This record gives sequence, C-alpha cells and structure tokens, in this order.
Amino acid sequence: MNLRLVVLGSAQDGGVPQLGMSPAQEQRYTASLAIVSDGGHAFLIDASPDLRHQQRALMAHDWYSQRSSADPFDGVAITHAHMGHYTGLVNFGMEAQAARGLPCWVTPRMAQFLTANQPWQALVVFGHIALNPLAEGQEFEPWEGVSLRPVVVPHRAEFTDTVGFSITNQSTGVSAFYLPDLDAWSPEAEREVANHDISLVDTSFYSRDELPNRDMSTFPHPIATDTMDRFEHLVGERMIVLTHLNHSNPLTDPQSVESKSAAARGFHVATDMMEIDL
Ligand SMILES: [Zn+2]
Ligand SMILES: [Zn+2]
Repeated sequence: MNLRLVVLGSAQDGGVPQLGMSPAQEQRYTASLAIVSDGGHAFLIDASPDLRHQQRALMAHDWYSQRSSADPFDGVAITHAHMGHYTGLVNFGMEAQAARGLPCWVTPRMAQFLTANQPWQALVVFGHIALNPLAEGQEFEPWEGVSLRPVVVPHRAEFTDTVGFSITNQSTGVSAFYLPDLDAWSPEAEREVANHDISLVDTSFYSRDELPNRDMSTFPHPIATDTMDRFEHLVGERMIVLTHLNHSNPLTDPQSVESKSAAARGFHVATDMMEIDL
C-alpha cells in the first residue's frame, strides 16, 4: 500500500505567530501529522487547535481528495494532554462535525483525562469519539497495511503521560517515528530514532537563551544543536525532521543562518503540508 505522511502543522502548541504577535512572521499551524493512503484512507496524530484549517489544506492533497467517507479521518491518536495536541477534538462534537464513534487511540491516562473532564467527557459519553486505551507498546492498525505503536517519553505530566508514535508501512517495511514533545532525550527515545527510517522530532528551541524573559527550565525541551549533535551519525541512512518549532526558534525562518546550518548538517526542517513517502 502506498502511504504518505503529511505534516499538518510544524509549530509548538501556540502556533506561529502566536496570538498578538507580529503577523510578519510566516504562519505555521500547530504540530500535527496525517497519514494518508492512495486508497483515500486518512489517520490523524494529534488534534490541534488549528485542525479545521489543516483539514481544509489537506483537501488539496491528491490522495485525500479521493476520500469517499463523510468522516474527515478514519481515526485519531493523541500524544498527550497539552493544549496544542488534543483540543482540536472539539471539532468532532455535536456543535460541529458530529463524528459517530471516531476511533481515538490514547494511553490509559489520557483516556481517563478525557473521560473525567468536560467538554471531552461529552464527546465520550455521547459517542462522538470511541476511546481505545493502549497498553504500553501495544500495536494497532487503523486500517490493514499500516501499524502504529505508542512509545512513552519523558515530558511534563501535569495531566497525562506522553507518547510518540511509531508508524510502519506493512507492505514496504518503511517506518517513521513521530515525537512532537519531550523534556529530554531518554535512551529509549534515542534508540527509537536510530531504529526508524524517518523521525520527526521535537525541536521547540534552537538555544537555551531564546526566551530571555522566561525561565526555560520550567518547560524543558531538547535544543536543536544538542539534537543535531546526538543524531548526526545517523544522517545519510536516516531522515530526521525537526518540528514543533517555537515562534522564537530561528529554524522557523528558512533563510536564517541556523536553518542553513541545519540543512548543511543533513537535517530537515518541517514545513506545513510537507509530504514524506512511507
Ligand atoms: Zn507541544
Ligand atoms: Zn507538551
């Protein structure tokens, strides 16, 4: 089966530019990924606050435009309960698209969070979304020919735990790892990047002094230079895509010195609607 990843958004949770900030900055939607097939299947990883606009942009995709189902997606998987990653689920409620039983794959803690808090609880109770809690490392197939597996990663856990998703095209064997958010590289997360053909990884910040007015230790993320040093030995055999960019990250500007440096080192910077064959 022919499968393709489509980057629906490449910004950190607040989007680029953030609310009230300079409109001169090139727009990026909040991080989210679609998996599409040439048969018109479509699966969503993370439901961002920009979901309406992202799905509209996806309608221009040649495979997605052939989709016959009235539902915009065959299912959704959520990485964690920070605002940029799940609040787009409101679009599946009775005020909007009113999905009937949209399969929603999440960790047990995420399932508990959605079941216990409004307005998400209403989506569950009225059957707009059908929660499928995943055991650690449990594989699932949104449709025949593609499998996904959650990978637990360290990340601020005020509400839920956090996972990345391993994605495999069963017919080609090509695999991708989608990891939009983590605090620091754990040995497990690092191993997953080494084991996948393609990885799209959290690169919220380029350097540690990027937000002079905020204490960055309160929202830790691996920084771009560290991530590139860590994975430089994989470049050539693996495709590594830097995503989930904060508005302050110079990688948001393709003309910046930092963007040119990343490209020269063999790394890719995600852009909205970027397509990657799987
Ligand atoms: Zn995030
Ligand atoms: Zn987060």
